Amino acid sequence: MTTQSQTVSPRDKWQAVKRGFMGKCPRCGEGKMFHAYLKVSDACPACGEALHHHRADDAPPYMTIFVVGHIIGAGMLIVEEHNDALPIWIHATVWPILTLVLCLALLPRIKGGLIGLQWALKMHGFDPMAPSDDATLPITAASPT
Ligand SMILES: [Zn+2]
Repeated sequence: MTTQSQTVSPRDKWQAVKRGFMGKCPRCGEGKMFHAYLKVSDACPACGEALHHHRADDAPPYMTIFVVGHIIGAGMLIVEEHNDALPIWIHATVWPILTLVLCLALLPRIKGGLIGLQWALKMHGFDPMAPSDDATLPITAASPT
């Protein structure tokens, strides 16, 4: 009886990543995940799902640099291959601006997608069946004198 009520259904990973990528709550897809540019809300304003468990840390900037680096690097090579008479000042102007715009646009989306994936995989406290933080603390014995 208790195992039936405690069973938690699996979460759709791609749906959660897509919702997070769009800046929405991975559970309901309605509430906003961020209350500022990169500040994650403590809980979804629509469904109340706790979002403060996320541990995105350095992964979003790392993945953003990885993606933008490949886009810009490939773009520079393709443009240079097909139009080598392009003045250098155009390269020196366009590529840094495009890099900055892509990084600023992709960083919150990638962070949202990563938090959605963490939620779908029930990582870092997103698992409702996980013991609370207090229960995982080691029991301290009396210190020897
Ligand atoms: Zn929600």
